[in-house]
Amino acid sequence: MSAQLNLVETISRYVTLQPGRKALKGKCPFHRDEMSSLMVIPDRDIFKCFGCGAEGGTIEFLMLLENKTRTQVVEDLGRRTFSAQ
Ligand SMILES: [Zn+2]
Repeated sequence: MSAQLNLVETISRYVTLQPGRKALKGKCPFHRDEMSSLMVIPDRDIFKCFGCGAEGGTIEFLMLLENKTRTQVVEDLGRRTFSAQ
């Protein structure tokens, strides 16, 4: 299922992530971020923004970024995975 989609890999497509001690940091795509407020925690497969409060996993990231419903994101991911093979 798409829940296993790699979060860091997905976010890296849109945001440049800098490695940190426990989390990766980057500029949040959901608000005007000058301070790299976005944290990605690979161990827990979640992201969190300390600027605007956005948080979640891969599906939530894509929902926010593409302004889609969970169903649409899951369908898109299924299609993308399918067509890539
Ligand atoms: Zn933010």
